[in-house]
Amino acid sequence: MKQIAFLGLGHMGAPMAANLLKAGYLLRVFDLVQSAIDTAVAQGASAARSARDAVQGADVVISMLPASHHVESLYLGDEGLLAHIAPGTLVLECSTIAPVSARKVHHDAAERGIEMLDAPVSGGTAGAAAGTLTFMVGGDEAVLEKARPVFEAMGRNIFHAGGDGAGQVAKVCNNQLLAVLMIGTAESLALGVANGLDPKVLSEIMRRSSGGNWALEVYNPWPGVMENAPASREYEGGFMSALMAKDLGLAQETAQVSGNSTPMGSLALSLYRMLLKQGFAEKDFSSVQKLFNS
Ligand code: NAD
Repeated sequence: MKQIAFLGLGHMGAPMAANLLKAGYLLRVFDLVQSAIDTAVAQGASAARSARDAVQGADVVISMLPASHHVESLYLGDEGLLAHIAPGTLVLECSTIAPVSARKVHHDAAERGIEMLDAPVSGGTAGAAAGTLTFMVGGDEAVLEKARPVFEAMGRNIFHAGGDGAGQVAKVCNNQLLAVLMIGTAESLALGVANGLDPKVLSEIMRRSSGGNWALEVYNPWPGVMENAPASREYEGGFMSALMAKDLGLAQETAQVSGNSTPMGSLALSLYRMLLKQGFAEKDFSSVQKLFNS
């Protein structure tokens, strides 16, 4: 499993590909943006002229694309990439997409004798650069064991979430919870400060009390409380609000399919849409604090 075709060299894909090169894999890369290919080539990858060209002779195909429709249109249909991937090849689809889209690719891949895992990630661009991503994997566990060394070159925690699409389900559940916790933290901080509390003092009290959560531990949304959090640098860097809104939309789609009631997720999506409209789409998702401070 030495030859890897890597498709999609954006914010996440570029550093993931760089870590695979550092681990000694041979990469043939393709992106719609030529400069992204050039950067990877400068790091030791070889350039492909198209996605089809990239997968020729590959043992593993990795894709890291924006959204469901990019993945479906890349892989599926008579002209889709699956028709050009040799049986026995391993496809690791790492984009965050709807579980139903992932299952469509699983289904068509299996029909062609191609092994596939849905493997969305958590950890952001910093985790991608440091090689410490968390992979949430859906598909056959035996296939995951084959792919494990490849994942380990890019990440630290590799979880088997369950069968086909389960990685995507785990990812949307996690991000829905993350959004709800962040919004609740921002709302409580604003309430406390409006009633005379110091945000640092209140944050420490809640962190060590029953309201303690990940935002209070490492990602406080109030500017100046945590030196290294995006809130203390004008919400620059981190995880964009637009991507959080995308993931909350996927959670709603998933709930629609299973008939689940997700009132907190639905409200979180509405609040993030409001935040996007106020011009914070490209700011870190902890900028949701702004909705409560004005
Ligand atoms: P991005 O938009 O920066 O990168 C996507 C890349 O895919 C672009 O370079 C684009 O040109 C390329 N692309 C699109 N269609 C293509 C095709 N048919 N063939 C080849 N290349 C194609 O996005 P990103 O931030 O790298 O995110 C990728 C995925 O990872 C998304 O699903 C996102 O939700 C998820 N994710 C992102 C983060 C983050 O912090 N950015 C964190 C976790 C998960």
